[in-house]
Amino acid sequence: MSAGGCAVIRSGTVIGARSGRPGVGDVVICRGVVRDRCPHDDDRLRIDASGCVVGPGLVDVHVHGALGHDFTEPDAAAWRAILGAHLSAGTTTAVATLASAAPTVTAAALGTAAALLTDQGAPTLAGVHLEGPCIDAAQRGAHDSSGLRSPAELLRELTPLPAVLRMVTLAPELAGADELISHLSGNGVRVSVGHSSASPEVLERARSLGATHLAHLWSGQSTLTRPGLARIPGLLEASLASEGLSAEVIADGRHLPGTLLTIALRCFGPDRLCLVSDATAGTGLAVGRTFRVGAATGRVHDGYAATEDGGSLCGSVLPLGMTLARMRALTGAPVADVLTMATATPARTVGLYPRKGALLPGSDGDAVILTPGLEIRDVILAGRPVQAVTPDGL
Ligand SMILES: [Zn+2]
Ligand SMILES: [Zn+2]
Repeated sequence: MSAGGCAVIRSGTVIGARSGRPGVGDVVICRGVVRDRCPHDDDRLRIDASGCVVGPGLVDVHVHGALGHDFTEPDAAAWRAILGAHLSAGTTTAVATLASAAPTVTAAALGTAAALLTDQGAPTLAGVHLEGPCIDAAQRGAHDSSGLRSPAELLRELTPLPAVLRMVTLAPELAGADELISHLSGNGVRVSVGHSSASPEVLERARSLGATHLAHLWSGQSTLTRPGLARIPGLLEASLASEGLSAEVIADGRHLPGTLLTIALRCFGPDRLCLVSDATAGTGLAVGRTFRVGAATGRVHDGYAATEDGGSLCGSVLPLGMTLARMRALTGAPVADVLTMATATPARTVGLYPRKGALLPGSDGDAVILTPGLEIRDVILAGRPVQAVTPDGL
């Protein structure tokens, strides 16, 4: 990346800085990196944040698309459009998430990611998250069933392991999953359990083999069954009782009511719970527009998307930055905790903290300035302000 800019963000309530506690102060960015001071008086941008909250740039580890485009498209221009839309809404670090698709489609998308990272054409791209294709067909949600395949098949496809791969969401109960989990986690790829009917025992085994994360709680997870006199926990209950794993929630105010978000926050706490957008191609499209998600067609409504028959939700259409105020309103979580769940915690989950998700000296100079109501006011990437670039009104 070209050397970043110099900026001082003044007098905001800063979250994610060295003190560890929110406090009013300045954030200094020098040549794109957070520093204690910057000697470049002449070309330093001064941004007043008084009365506002200043946090690290947002980190979204589960995002599929925007503006009618999906990361399963191999076109670099589509990737840039998606990343640009999310950047203008505060996401300065995105892990491009690919839903289950044919091997050729996944391979082409991985190639696009590698090219973008090599020619530095996508400064916010932080690798790829494969959501599937090794998932339980009964918990596949919007994933296209024709794209599902076995762990052994995926293991072959991922040999040699693509350097851009950062996370894989899978169902650990599938035959051959143990080898896949061990191989991925042993080579630095995060393993997330999701779209799965894993029992508590299977989840614990996956954890012992290196799984560290749980995809979107209450979506694509089996739940309690009550055969006869028994009570058998599903993956949901196993997740809530788990220790040491991080987890995702979609806080768009549609997927999960406040009660469930509150349960998730109590079980995991802000240091293990990540806010994710799970945003689809419908993000940033006008109300009434349609878009593809997996095998389904979604239609954009005000703040959500539904299948054409209106019978079920069809992914999210809100970028991560637009879910912060909702998370706070629905759970009463303190502002600092809400920011942590969208910055430090997801950055740790994918191994990027404290370069991302923090405003510590040496962190990348990515920041968001939020109103007291947690609406995104300004976005700064590598010390430079980001212009709103989206055509369709994010
Ligand atoms: Zn999913
Ligand atoms: Zn997803």
